[in-house]
Amino acid sequence: MLWPDSKNFRPIKTKGLLYTNPKIIKSVCSELVNEISLYAKASCLVYKDYEEIMTKEYLSANRLLWHKPVLNNKFIGSYTRTSGTTGNQFNYLIDSRYYEYLEYYCHYQAVVREFFDHKPENIFYFMANPVPIMEQCNGEYVQKLVNYPKIYSHGLRNVAVHLISSSNLTSEYLEKAVGYISNNNIDIMLSDGAHINALCNFIKNNGKNFKICKLLSNTNEKVMLEDLEFLKENQYIDDWCDHMKCWDGGAAFMTCKHYTYHLLDDVAYCHSVDGKLIATDYFNYASPFVNYWNGDYCDIGDQYEKCECGRWYRPFKFVTMRDFGSTEIKSLEVKNKIGKLKIPNIKFIKIGSRNEITIVSNENVSETNKDLIKKTFPQATFYFVDNNAR
Ligand SMILES: [Zn+2]
Repeated sequence: MLWPDSKNFRPIKTKGLLYTNPKIIKSVCSELVNEISLYAKASCLVYKDYEEIMTKEYLSANRLLWHKPVLNNKFIGSYTRTSGTTGNQFNYLIDSRYYEYLEYYCHYQAVVREFFDHKPENIFYFMANPVPIMEQCNGEYVQKLVNYPKIYSHGLRNVAVHLISSSNLTSEYLEKAVGYISNNNIDIMLSDGAHINALCNFIKNNGKNFKICKLLSNTNEKVMLEDLEFLKENQYIDDWCDHMKCWDGGAAFMTCKHYTYHLLDDVAYCHSVDGKLIATDYFNYASPFVNYWNGDYCDIGDQYEKCECGRWYRPFKFVTMRDFGSTEIKSLEVKNKIGKLKIPNIKFIKIGSRNEITIVSNENVSETNKDLIKKTFPQATFYFVDNNAR
C-alpha cells in the first residue's frame, strides 16, 4: 500500500454515499476500512500485529512506533494534538490535503448546505477560545474578524467571525455575550453543549427575549436535546445542528434538518462495542486511527433505516459529556478528584483553556465545599456558577 501522493487527491468515491442504499454503503465502508487497515499495518509498526481495539493509552505509549514510519516517508502533514478530554493527550499527524477537504467540505460546509440556501455572513464563535485568539482581542470583549482561519468560520471563506474573548461560563460573560448577540444579526452560532446549557439557564433565569441566530451549530461535545428544543420552541433560534468530526479517531456525525443523527459513513466508520465508540478514519494516512477507542461512548444500531432527508442511517446516540480546552489539567483527573468529594448538586465541570475550572451547580455551593474543591487543584482558577441564580 503506497502513500497517496497525488496533489489533487479528493476522496470523491464517497460523495453521495449515504443516499445510495445499505448494500452499497456497507460494501464501500468495508472496502475503505480494509484499505486503511492494510495501509496502517504496512506503514506503522504499532499496528503491525495488532488486531484488537486500539486504545488511547496504547497509542500514546507507543507513539514513536506509530509515527516513525510516516516520518521516514514523504508527506504533506502537520502535527496536531488530541484534546486530552477523554484521557491521555498525545501528538499525531494530519495530512492537510485530506484535512481541508474532509473537515471543511464534508463536515462544516455539509452542515451549511443542509440548513442554508445562501452563504451565511456572520458567525458567532461561542465556545472555549484558544489562547492566541484571546490575545488578538486586545482587551476588546468581542472582536469581529474577516478572513479568519476556516476552523473558526464553519469552513467558509470571507465571512465575518465574531469572537468573544473569554471562555468562563460566568454571569458577567453570559450577560455580555447575550448583549452582543442581541445587537447583531448572527447566521450561525458555533458552540458546545456546556456553553449552550449555560446560555439556556441564563435566559430562563433572566427572562431575556431576543433572537440568537438562524442556526445553532453544536460541536466538540454532547449537547442536551432539551436545551436545543427549548431554544427552537421559543424562537431564540430557527434551527439547530449537532455534529462532530473527530480527527483523533472519534465520532463523525451530523443531524439533518429532520433532526436525525447521521453517522458520516462516507468519511469514517464508527461502530459500538460494549457501548464504546470504536472509529476507523478512512483518510488520515499521516497517523492512522484504525479500530480505535478514544474514550467516548455511544449507542449504534446494526440496521440501516431511511430518513426523510433521503440518507440511509444506522440509529446513533452520542452519550459522552466531555470538557474541552484543558491544558495542564486533565479533565478526567478533575472529574475524579472533585467527584470523590461527593458534593451535592454539581451539574457539570468545565475546564477552560488557561487552567480555569468552572463548576456549574443547581444550587449555590457552600463556602466550605468551595474551599474543598479549590484544594484539589491549587494551580487552577475556580469559578462557581449557580444555574438557578438570578
Ligand atoms: Zn436525515
